[in-house]
Amino acid sequence: MKKEILKLRGVKVHFPVQAGVFNRVVGHVLAVDGVDLDIFRGEVLGLAGESGCGKTTLGKAILRLVEPTDGEVKYISQDDNETELTSLEKKDMDPFRKKLQIVFQDPHSSLNPSFTIFGSLQDPLKKFGVKSKEERRKIIGDLLEAVNMRREYMDRYPHEFSGGQRQRIGIVRALCLEPELIVCDEAVSALDVSIQAQVLKLLMQLKKEKNLTYLFITHDLSVTEYLCDRIAVMYLGRIVELCDSEDLYNNTLHPYSEALISAIPVADLDKQTKRIVLEGDVPSPVNPPKGCPFHPRCPKATDICKTEVPTLKKYSTNGNEHYASCHLIDLPEIS
Ligand code: SF4
Repeated sequence: MKKEILKLRGVKVHFPVQAGVFNRVVGHVLAVDGVDLDIFRGEVLGLAGESGCGKTTLGKAILRLVEPTDGEVKYISQDDNETELTSLEKKDMDPFRKKLQIVFQDPHSSLNPSFTIFGSLQDPLKKFGVKSKEERRKIIGDLLEAVNMRREYMDRYPHEFSGGQRQRIGIVRALCLEPELIVCDEAVSALDVSIQAQVLKLLMQLKKEKNLTYLFITHDLSVTEYLCDRIAVMYLGRIVELCDSEDLYNNTLHPYSEALISAIPVADLDKQTKRIVLEGDVPSPVNPPKGCPFHPRCPKATDICKTEVPTLKKYSTNGNEHYASCHLIDLPEIS
């Protein structure tokens, strides 16, 4: 039976916009605007959408690297104890920071250039009680070998490594504290395609060996297709579609997901569907459009889309739960 590791309910992250001589708050950026989401132990959940849709902010809000403005993020332990993370004092977050880690997009800026790899990676181990230097060197060396690097690399500096190697080091840092869930925030986007494939393969191998759960954040739906068990598609701070990976590609319900999928290049030109080109950029999250936030760009928009906000409803496709928010879905809603 599937067990949740995280339950998000009504999560919002609104950043104040200040202006004028007195820096008055004149509005809010609605970066994440009411997200409900369950993440199950052992799964790879993709979180996809264009730049500016709020996916990275949501990933950071889960770890409290940005503070949610509202809503709940519940961590559920192996023995089913629930802890609401957003209400904890910062210092009480420490045991959960161990369990929930992140790999950032840019491996270069996430490593201190003036420290050796050991110098950068040993701090969290020290903080969480690994007192002996020898033991810290052993843990880091073993993990470097696990990501196919030599253990003596720990005494080198970040500039001595390629982008792919630095991303492997980022993965080692995330693994140091034996986490249960890793947020991979565009973890392969900055890498060449051939290196991307190696790092993705490595991530999947480590997931199996260490029984990890991934929240895999990406703007590229071609990466998620074979990697993720389920995919959530975000638009302007909200989830607009959530379902099994296969269903997203074969039984797409939301016009925004359809447009993203149509942009994926395929090797067999006979199988390439007509590309749906979306007009304009994602609207400003300071002043989102009324009605369905996607309506100014949606090729299927009708009058109702301009006035009524569609809610995320549950349907069934291929016998699986399939959530989507669009007025035009012609399937019976299920409870
Ligand atoms: Fe497009 Fe209307 Fe559906 Fe929104 S509700 S995605 S505008 S068809």
